[in-house]
Amino acid sequence: MFKKILIANRGEIALRVVRAAREMGVATVAVHSTADSDAMHVRMADEAICIGPPPSAQSYLSMAAIISACEITGAEAIHPGYGFLSENASFVQAVEDHGIKFIGPSAAHIRLMGDKITAKDTMKKLGVPCVPGSDGGVPTLDAAYAVGEEAGYPVIVKATAGGGGRGMKLARNKTELETAFRTARAEAKAAFGNDEVYIEKYLGQPRHIEVQIFGDGKGRAVHLGERDCSLQRRHQKVFEEAPGPAIDAATRARIGETCAKAVADLGYEGAGTIEFLYENGEFFFIEMNTRLQVEHPVTEAIMGVDLVREQIRVAAGLPMSFHQEDLAVNGHAIEVRINAEKLPNFAPCPGKISQYHAPGGLGVRMDSAIYDGYRIPPYYDSLIGKLIVHGRDRPEALARLSRALGELIIDGIDTTVPLFHALLETQQVQSGDYTIHWLEGWLAENIG
Ligand code: ADP
Repeated sequence: MFKKILIANRGEIALRVVRAAREMGVATVAVHSTADSDAMHVRMADEAICIGPPPSAQSYLSMAAIISACEITGAEAIHPGYGFLSENASFVQAVEDHGIKFIGPSAAHIRLMGDKITAKDTMKKLGVPCVPGSDGGVPTLDAAYAVGEEAGYPVIVKATAGGGGRGMKLARNKTELETAFRTARAEAKAAFGNDEVYIEKYLGQPRHIEVQIFGDGKGRAVHLGERDCSLQRRHQKVFEEAPGPAIDAATRARIGETCAKAVADLGYEGAGTIEFLYENGEFFFIEMNTRLQVEHPVTEAIMGVDLVREQIRVAAGLPMSFHQEDLAVNGHAIEVRINAEKLPNFAPCPGKISQYHAPGGLGVRMDSAIYDGYRIPPYYDSLIGKLIVHGRDRPEALARLSRALGELIIDGIDTTVPLFHALLETQQVQSGDYTIHWLEGWLAENIG
């Protein structure tokens, strides 16, 4: 096992990794920008090192600063968390070239899944069902029209280098496709420096279902069931649950086994998520995330495993601590993302937290790095906490979520907590009957 690891991240996920490492007897090094000197992850880690000024490009995204921090502190491995450099193949390559272990998949696997056209092609060959659409990149408008004809409108133009919902454009007919094709390419060029796009059939009423997988890098892999993350705003998840309300045990086993087999065949190492749209009982692959996800705690709750501990173990060369037959769904878990944002526009709302009280009790987990008197810096993502509840079944989890939200106090700033109080009152959230488009419509009518 490693003696010391460095965490190339901040906020709740950095603290999450500190906690897992400490339970394993592994020392931790926090890195931070000058804006984060007072951050909780800095206080809780065994050592901390400042890696640059507030802008992420000069601190949390600075490969040289992070690798130097490893060399200075003698950390043997890097946990990347999510976001920042977690899916940057060049970073992984540089880390490994310096003799440091990256806690996650190989640079080759990250590169393979980071390009969406290649990812889709790979998954198709491995027997994973994909959204119908273009066969690879679409270089010209005429080629785009041909795909539109064949797949049938509406279609969605997507950037192969895309992420965070950028470079994605809907077209309901041939006229709209012309605009969608041009704007998606321009947006992709500006955001990712790569204007290659592909086209998919646009699904009207799907759910977002994602399968958690875990591989040992030596050809063994398991699945840990699915999460339903259909409640999205601007393609960003806000409320996640496991198991999926629309997925039964047989369906779970079928898609889970397909995913586990695919990543086993790849020789994939560590945690990963295969994302699907699910409509009329059919799964359609959209992308694979080669890292730990924000919403991983709902899977941990129902499966009774510590995914970060497992990531560290496997990176250290130890075998996975569970087999497929050890993993069974136990109850129901829900996570809500608490952002420092002001409704109705969800405008970022950094500032000083004058009072903080975290909820507790049976089945309640609060993953957050905030504290009384903490000043949220304006430079980073607005996620400040995740409230995760676990119950014997979905109604119990919903009741627990309502109770826990009632106990939570975050004073001094605006947060998305009122959104969740309101959502819990809706028939759709109570019944679990919603698609990826439902929340946007509800927000427009009720919050906008
Ligand atoms: P990104 O990497 O930018 O997040 P994804 O491919 O994961 O892009 O898609 C993000 C979201 O966009 C999905 O969760 C879904 O809400 C929507 N989406 C993507 N592809 C389609 C499609 N073919 N039909 C309908 N909605 C889609």
